[in-house]
Amino acid sequence: MIVGLSSERIRMRFAISALALSVVINLAAFSAAQARPFPGPDVQQIYNRLLPQIEKIPAFDHHAHPGFADDPDIDAMAAPPNASLPLRTRDDNPELAAAAKALFGYPYADFSPEHAKWLLDKKAELKKQFPGTAYFNSILDKLNTESSVANRAMMPDYLDAKRFPWVFFADSFLWPFNNEHETARNPDEGVFIPLQEKMLHRWMQQENVTKLPAGFGDYLKFISQVLEDNSKRGGIAMKFEVAYFRPTTFSDPTRAQAEDIYQRYVAGGIPSEKDYRTFQDVIFRYLVTEGGRLHLPVHIHSAVGIGDYFNLSQSNIMNLETVLRDPRYASTTFVMIHGGYPLEREAIWLAAMKNVYLDSSFGELAQYPSAFKDTLKMWLETFPDKITFGTDCFPYNQVLGSEESYWLGVQSSRTALAAALAEMVSENEITEPRALELAHAYLHDTAVKLYEGRVH
Ligand SMILES: [Zn+2]
Repeated sequence: MIVGLSSERIRMRFAISALALSVVINLAAFSAAQARPFPGPDVQQIYNRLLPQIEKIPAFDHHAHPGFADDPDIDAMAAPPNASLPLRTRDDNPELAAAAKALFGYPYADFSPEHAKWLLDKKAELKKQFPGTAYFNSILDKLNTESSVANRAMMPDYLDAKRFPWVFFADSFLWPFNNEHETARNPDEGVFIPLQEKMLHRWMQQENVTKLPAGFGDYLKFISQVLEDNSKRGGIAMKFEVAYFRPTTFSDPTRAQAEDIYQRYVAGGIPSEKDYRTFQDVIFRYLVTEGGRLHLPVHIHSAVGIGDYFNLSQSNIMNLETVLRDPRYASTTFVMIHGGYPLEREAIWLAAMKNVYLDSSFGELAQYPSAFKDTLKMWLETFPDKITFGTDCFPYNQVLGSEESYWLGVQSSRTALAAALAEMVSENEITEPRALELAHAYLHDTAVKLYEGRVH
């Protein structure tokens, strides 16, 4: 028979061609979506397109230490003398001349004394031209930074509170007893611990308290009062630098244990290290809980730190995992300052918790952009909605200030961000419009949302 195909065969043919068509369609979809392991030759062009758009995004700097070098309130602690600094953060980094050129038109490539004088004179002239808060606002304008957190002991009158929201230090509440043992542990603690004592006294002065309360309950009330007053005075978050002073493993003792230790040592005597830590563990958890009640996010230094005695294994960000994943603290927002660097690969998985965020500051100064790009890329590929930008700017010395440090942090972050996103686009991971959404989130939006309308 040549009368065509049986209906059975027609059905089969149709089924086979439909299957072939769907395979073709699926393959096409597959090849468009499948990520590839290397960026293509278009990566530089994508970078060139993304960078100017990223530079136009007004940034929210989530961690910085703005202020003049001679301002004692710039931090609640100080760098120990003679501390080793990684290559890029030294004040002889030639990139700082580029920073001075970009910000102030600095015409030299080095900072010899006579050249440095040019820069000092220029800044003095600008401070006259931009008096009061106008000087640092003008620096933010030049960097296209809308606002920058001021992580400071106290706020000075030369920073505009609207553009420099205050993050205050909460560590000093952990050190109310005789600190002879802690201060003597090594030369770095010899610098750090007395400054914690000083900070605690400043909080006492603020609350008109001349001596520590006799009862533990009243000590907790005093702490809460400071937090509430700081919040009223513009504080948007509390910051812990505790990794500098003791290991960040926090046990879970009872309130009664802490009360007993408080009663024994508030009026004098030197607590054993074990007793002191037990007391501190309760106070730390109290502060974290209060951060939830008062809508004060808790910032925690979570990276290496300055000072040759800084113990990385004892301050490993993963030590905090039990606290961060504790459902009792679900209403507290945590920001892991410096993102656990150099353990940022582990750290990003802590951001699986809905209330945990990572800040990338310092990573962009400790690393050059070529390496920081890889950090950002890995984070953007994991929890892109949980990471925030910060510079960790600080004054280097009398000549090179937080201004140049700001510039280096902003430039490094924007270029590394553009490079990370360009690779992701070129490797078929995301589209270019999506890359720009992620850039907005990282540079501004994600952090701003944490403060419920108190910052912009
Ligand atoms: Zn810092």
